[in-house]
Amino acid sequence: MAQVIRMCAGCRQRAAREELVRLVWSDGAVVVDERCRLPGRGVYLHPGCVAAVLRNRGVGRGLRREVDARQLRDLLDRLAG
Ligand SMILES: [Zn+2]
Repeated sequence: MAQVIRMCAGCRQRAAREELVRLVWSDGAVVVDERCRLPGRGVYLHPGCVAAVLRNRGVGRGLRREVDARQLRDLLDRLAG
């Protein structure tokens, strides 16, 4: 089976899907799609690229939403921790 490749919104490198965390927009906020089952546009991120994606605003761009920076930082802090 072909490997699924996605781009990390932080470092913008391509990586195997399994190495990345999927973020989606749900009910007015960004959430981590733990099981990769939520519908809609997703943004992928290395767990180690949290700081980079907060700098480059790749999540809001990828999701095409006005992302609340504080909410996103809190969410991603848990991810990195
Ligand atoms: Zn990355």
